[in-house]
Amino acid sequence: MIELKNHSQGRWRPVSGRPAVLADPVLGTGLAHAGAADIDMAACYAWARERGGPALRALRYPQRAELLDRIARTLQRHRDKYFEISLQNSGTVKNDSAVDVDGALYTLGHYARLGAGLPDAHHLPDGAPEALSRDGAFASQHVLVPSRGVALLINAFNFPAWGLWEKAAPALLSGVPIVVKPATATAWLTHEMVADVIEADILPPGALSIVCGRPEGLLDALEPLDTVSFTGSADTAAALRGHPRIARDGARLNAETDSVNSAILGPDAGEAAIGLLVRETVREMTVKSGQKCTAIRRILVPQAHYDAIGARIAEKLGRIAVGDPRDPGVRMGSLVSRTQRDAVEAGIRQLAQSCDVLFDGARRSAVQAPPDSACVAPVLFGTRDPDGHPDVHRTEVFGPVATLIPYRDAAHALDLARRGMGSLVASVYAEDPGFLAEAAARLAESHGRVHLVSPEVAESHTGHGNAMPQSSHGGPGRAGGGEELGGARALRLYHRLSAIQGWTGALARMAPA
Ligand code: NAP
Repeated sequence: MIELKNHSQGRWRPVSGRPAVLADPVLGTGLAHAGAADIDMAACYAWARERGGPALRALRYPQRAELLDRIARTLQRHRDKYFEISLQNSGTVKNDSAVDVDGALYTLGHYARLGAGLPDAHHLPDGAPEALSRDGAFASQHVLVPSRGVALLINAFNFPAWGLWEKAAPALLSGVPIVVKPATATAWLTHEMVADVIEADILPPGALSIVCGRPEGLLDALEPLDTVSFTGSADTAAALRGHPRIARDGARLNAETDSVNSAILGPDAGEAAIGLLVRETVREMTVKSGQKCTAIRRILVPQAHYDAIGARIAEKLGRIAVGDPRDPGVRMGSLVSRTQRDAVEAGIRQLAQSCDVLFDGARRSAVQAPPDSACVAPVLFGTRDPDGHPDVHRTEVFGPVATLIPYRDAAHALDLARRGMGSLVASVYAEDPGFLAEAAARLAESHGRVHLVSPEVAESHTGHGNAMPQSSHGGPGRAGGGEELGGARALRLYHRLSAIQGWTGALARMAPA
């Protein structure tokens, strides 16, 4: 079994404590073990703050962008290895591994290009100077300066590659050293990528550390100017929010959590929009076996279309072979672990209490995998009474599961979408640009992203569930209230905003050349 050593204070340190075993979710075989009980987190963070921080901040934005470019090129060389690890540890077919691995490379490349175009400076202006005195001599200029603390990146199990680099790229570009804490179940891929970057000696000492498992004092050892960027469940986010370093000392927390996302078919939608909704729903339910925080969980359609659309989605789901990703005939692989399988099956049982089963893959086609594998076939639920069943708007079953919901009119559809109490994304399918624009304006207050699909973009839209680095990723309320990506906006999390007030001549000296 592979030992996922921890990299702290510039050295690889052995697994310690009672190790957690990472397993192949299809075959059940042990792959690697992880544990960081003996890691001194205070020393780990201090090394990062005192060695990595100053070395990164001595560089300017385009120079740090060059480091990201070298990281991307290094990882690109090992791409095949990452696909093999994904297959073994995440149980994903090649197309689904690509969402994670190629998504990571694309995001890194994007931030490398973006950073190359940033000012050749050590800080960034935020807006223009504003006069504070009648004679205009005394003014205010907001500036963003890199945080002096460390960034602790805590990731969920479903994106061991993309989840790492979508956080690490903006943090490193900002000049902030990172300590990576991957989700244990799939930590191998994150660990391998970090090890490849350390081996390539791209970053200054202290800029990149990794701890696998659950080290003691992960949060206790943080300081007020540190940042935690977290992705995972709402329950864990709530525990982190209440931790004294965050609740009392003011360490910054960005949280991306669960979300009961929706896809909405416009009230006057024709065949073209219906076809697009059906295709996207099936894709979202099955890509990565539905283990995407952005996946479609609720499909809202006009009452008149409920039966026909349910039948069309069911027909397409019935053609998807589920099972061992090593089998070339299989299109949808496994969930990441047997624990997740049990959680998803419990969620299916819960929704079955209030919903009708419109499609149950387990009944139609035998799953092509060993009986105890973590493979779960897709399930489409439906409810004719969405107002009477609050469960469907609150329950995120983190697998290939969604619920079809009929609505009376557009106002009802938007109201139902909002019952997710804050979501990462809603997509809207219609031919009428007026309806698309109106729905977007109304959904924006409770959705971090609104994805509009019309026939004009049938082949070019980037997908309901794909978080693109150009667009903000996050959502209000239940979705965690965090913000990631969105181009240069992502850098704000790793900078501090300060208002500099003074003589305009002095302020002018601060402007990037
Ligand atoms: P999780 O159980 O909350 O774990 C997330 C991460 O937090 C893991 O690294 C976990 O470590 C760590 N963790 C758990 N308890 C902790 C504690 N007390 N202190 C410090 N770290 C702690 O979530 P998950 O099961 O991995 O991920 C699935 C959930 O993530 C789903 O609900 C999904 O919606 C959400 N998600 C959201 C997004 C988004 O961008 N909004 C993206 C992906 C997933 P261990 O692995 O060692 O337990």
